Amino acid sequence: MLELDLDGRRVPAGRVFCIGRNYAEHARELNNPVPAEPVVFMKPAASLVGPDCGILYPAHGEDLQFETEIVLLLGQGGAIDGLSLGLDLTLRDVQSRLKAKGLPWERAKAFEQSGAVGRFVEPDGLPLDDLRFECRVKGELRQSGHSADMLFPIPRLLEELARVWRLAPGDLVYTGTPSGVGSLARGDRIEVSADWFGRSVWAIL
Ligand code: ZN
Repeated sequence: MLELDLDGRRVPAGRVFCIGRNYAEHARELNNPVPAEPVVFMKPAASLVGPDCGILYPAHGEDLQFETEIVLLLGQGGAIDGLSLGLDLTLRDVQSRLKAKGLPWERAKAFEQSGAVGRFVEPDGLPLDDLRFECRVKGELRQSGHSADMLFPIPRLLEELARVWRLAPGDLVYTGTPSGVGSLARGDRIEVSADWFGRSVWAIL
């Protein structure tokens, strides 16, 4: 089980909620409709991997894609204890096959090391609706996100999740990816960064 790093404090990871299609341009680039309510799926906490390490390219798919996302670490009563950047790694070829058959996405979204996450920073003073972030692959800018573009802003996401789940300390929320998602190859180096966050790097092995 991954222990999360919140400003040097170790926090055991709880459940991992992921939001799909939370940016209109990303929904469009995958030919998905813009949803009327948040699309929610989950990854097992055992699929998380911390910052600055290697990620093994999964053997059961051929199109591993990065999705850069703001990640929330929840505390008591669903409050936000930490903010980070992470990768919702997705086997797009496997997901397309599963979606076509109306089957669940675990093989495409919940495989080993499918949830990369950086260190968490305290949210105090950070404007949730004005967080910019970037993703570079082999040094080249690939995604440039802004939380103001979320279809369902962070407070609304937490409200919607709390309707269904009793949110608990250690729970994580991947808040969706902006447009610009793309494929990774073995040997790639992927870096996520923001002025409010710093940076994290992963190597695809
Ligand atoms: Zn995602």
